[in-house]
Amino acid sequence: MPILVMKFGGTSVATLDRIRRAAKRVGREVANGYDVIVIVSAMSGETNKLVGFVNETSPMYDAREYDAVVSSGENVTAGLMALTLQEMDVPARSWQGWQVPLKTNSAHSAARIEEIPTDNIMAKFGEGMKVAVVAGFQGISHEGRITTLGRGGSDTTAVAFAAAFDAERCDIYTDVDGVYTTDPRVESKARKMEKVSFEEMLELASLGAKVLQTRSVELAMRFKVKLRVLSSFEEYDPNAGTLICAEEEIVENKPVSGIAASREEAKMTLVSVADRPGIAAAIFGPLAEAGVNVDMIIQNISEDGETDMTFSCPVDQVQRATAALNEAQDKGEVSFHELISDTEVAKISLVGIGMRSQSGVAAKMFQVLSNEGINIKVIATSEIKISVLVDRKYTELAVQALHDAFELDKA
Ligand code: ADP
Ligand code: ASP
Ligand code: MG
Repeated sequence: MPILVMKFGGTSVATLDRIRRAAKRVGREVANGYDVIVIVSAMSGETNKLVGFVNETSPMYDAREYDAVVSSGENVTAGLMALTLQEMDVPARSWQGWQVPLKTNSAHSAARIEEIPTDNIMAKFGEGMKVAVVAGFQGISHEGRITTLGRGGSDTTAVAFAAAFDAERCDIYTDVDGVYTTDPRVESKARKMEKVSFEEMLELASLGAKVLQTRSVELAMRFKVKLRVLSSFEEYDPNAGTLICAEEEIVENKPVSGIAASREEAKMTLVSVADRPGIAAAIFGPLAEAGVNVDMIIQNISEDGETDMTFSCPVDQVQRATAALNEAQDKGEVSFHELISDTEVAKISLVGIGMRSQSGVAAKMFQVLSNEGINIKVIATSEIKISVLVDRKYTELAVQALHDAFELDKA
C-alpha cells in the first residue's frame, strides 16, 4: 500500500469535535487506498500552558525535565485520535516517540532526529492496521530520556516520517489554507501561493513565518519529500493548499515572493570596544558558548582604536547574552564601556529567488520604509533575502507597506 503522512497542528485537534473532523479526513485517505501515518500536535494552547508550568516551577530549569513536561500534550492527542478512528471502524494504534522509537541526539528542547526505524509500524500495517497515529514533537535520546524537537517540531516529525517511510506525500494540515505571501493575520491582502520553492520556504520559515518549522523544510528539501500545506477547516479538495517544491517547478519572475516578520528580536550594542585583532572572536565566542543565537552583526568604523559592535539575537536570550559578556569583561577577555539592549525590535525580511537576478530590491525596500517614517536599525542581506531591524511597533505597518509596494497581492 502507498503511504501518506498527514500532520494535524494544534488548532486542528483543539477539541474532540475537531479531532473527529480530522479523523474523517484520515478515513477518507484510507478509503482512497493509503496506509496513513498521522502526526499530531498537542491541542492548541496546551504546549504554551506546559511551558508556563515549567517556567513558574523552575526559571533555570533542567532541560530534561522541561522535555518530560512539554512533550506530554502530544500524548493526549495521539491516544484520542487513535480512539476516534477506532470509533469510526478504522483500525488505528497510537505511538509515542519512544515507542517508535524516534531516536534523537541529546540536545534537549531542540533535539535533532537521528533515526526512525520503520519495522515496528510496518509490521502493524502488515497485520491490517490502517493508521499509525504518532505523537509529534518528541523523541528519545541515547540516554533513554524523552526529548523534544523545538517549538513547532511536529512539522519536522511529519517530514522525517515521510522520508523514513518513503511516503507518497506529506500533508501539513493547519489553520490557514496554505503558505501566503505574508502572514495573512498581519496583512489581509496576503495572497495564497500555489507553489513555493524549498529555498524560499526555508528562508521564510527561519525568518519568522511559523507556518512550517525551519528544520522540516530542510529535511523535505534534502530527502525530496513532496510537502503540502493545507487547511483542516475547509472542505476536502485534492488540489488544495500550497506545494513546497523544487525551484525548477516554479515559473515566477517577481524579485520578491514573500515577506516574513519576527517580533521576538533584540538588538545589543557594545559601546567603545577596543578594536584589535581577535576582538570579534573574543565577543562572539563566549556568546556561542552560552548558547546565544546571534543573527545580524555590524561593526562600526573605529575611532581612536575603539569601535561599537552591534548584534541581534532572540529577545529571550538577552539575559544570557548580558551575563556572558559581563563575565568575559570580568575575565579581561573584552572591554567595553557600556552594553545597551534594545528589546523592542522586530525583523522584517523580503524573500525571493528572483533577487538573484534583479537589482534594486534593497533600495526600494529602504525607500518604502522611509516613506512610512520607519527607521532602519540594522540591515542584513544574502542571496535571496534582505532583512532589517525596526522598532517592533512598526511590524504591521512595515509588512503592509512592503506588501503593497512589491505588489505581492497580484499574481
Ligand atoms: P499549527 O498549530 O497548525 O502548527 P502554526 O500556528 O504553527 O499552526 O502555523 C500556522 C500559522 O502560521 C498561521 O495561523 C499564520 O498566522 C502563521 N503564518 C505566518 N506566516 C505565514 C505565511 N506566510 N503563510 C501562512 N501562514 C503564516
Ligand atoms: N506542540 C508543539 C508546539 O506547540 C509542537 C507543534 O505543535 O508542532 O510547539
Ligand atoms: Mg506549527
